[in-house]
Amino acid sequence: MFKALVMKQDTATGTATAAIETLTMDDLPDGDVTVSVDYSTVNYKDGLCLSAKGGGLVRNYPHVPGIDFAGTVEASSDARYAPGDKVVLTGWRVGEAHWGGYAQKARVKADWLVPLPEGLDPRQAMAVGTAGFTAMLAVMALEDQGLKPGNGPVLVTGAAGGVGSVATAILAHLGYEVAAVTGRPETADYLSSLGATQIVARGDINAVVKRPLESETWAGCIDAVGGEMLARVLGQMKYGASVAAVGLAGGAALPTTVIPFLLRGVNLLGIDSVMQPYDNRLRAWQRIATDLPMHKLEAMVQPATLAELPQLGAEILSGQIKGRVVVDLN
Ligand code: NDP
Repeated sequence: MFKALVMKQDTATGTATAAIETLTMDDLPDGDVTVSVDYSTVNYKDGLCLSAKGGGLVRNYPHVPGIDFAGTVEASSDARYAPGDKVVLTGWRVGEAHWGGYAQKARVKADWLVPLPEGLDPRQAMAVGTAGFTAMLAVMALEDQGLKPGNGPVLVTGAAGGVGSVATAILAHLGYEVAAVTGRPETADYLSSLGATQIVARGDINAVVKRPLESETWAGCIDAVGGEMLARVLGQMKYGASVAAVGLAGGAALPTTVIPFLLRGVNLLGIDSVMQPYDNRLRAWQRIATDLPMHKLEAMVQPATLAELPQLGAEILSGQIKGRVVVDLN
């Protein structure tokens, strides 16, 4: 018997609501590996999955959300994993199409798991979660395009959110000058403590400008916001610089022109964490263990329980969560 946050749909209204239930191992879906879940977290996508309509991501109810989890292997029919192994899971539509981490037990495909790297425990892995993993993928993509600490300031948008907080801490640790864009001026001290050297007000960079090119300012950008902010940032990039497009917290539309690409050789790099191949996942988790200072990660963490998840889901959708939430399943 174990506890889970189960979402059930009212078939008359199509509205789903969450409640904590006691389930048995037979309730779990098929899979090669059964994991005793220690911690999970709250990402923007979790907010969507926890919402009344499932954000268009959840297809079948009853459903256990939670797109990330970390824990200990309890049983495995796959040779790569044995009982006692510490593992982390992000992506693969777990928590959306497949039951996820908002339960004390999970059963998944072995292919979806990554062994926890040396130096990270399950709680820290969930303080990182999909948001932090994606931030690392974005840093790696910018480096692959030639970004180096001496090139100039790197802009991080949605900086006080999950992706933005981890991106800021990693970049600062690697020696980059980080300019953090936030719509919450009260987070300035927090962002400085993570290593940001410049705080940019959201309003300064969100307003639409008529000019496709402005002065060359940023050597790189990790963008969690999309929309008009991304369009504006493209015109402010230095010659040949790259923007890693991670999110759409500010909108999915991209009202821009091709001018930054044609006249400044700007690169727009797409970052997907969900279907990321195994080797790159492993590389990203190993880089997180070495390049993300754990005391800065701790400063981002807000602890939570299963019962608090519906409220936290609503808060992340309205941009009110600072840093990262860690859900303790025990
Ligand atoms: P958070 O809600 O934690 O962070 C988003 C931040 O964006 C907010 O904290 C806020 O930062 C800023 N923001 C919110 N609304 C607006 C707005 N209307 N205009 C401008 N800025 C805004 O979410 P996550 O960090 O978990 O995720 C960020 C984005 O990245 C989401 O869109 C998510 O779906 C996406 N994502 C994509 C992944 C991928 O694989 N590509 C993986 C993970 C996330 P502040 O208050 O500092 O301004």
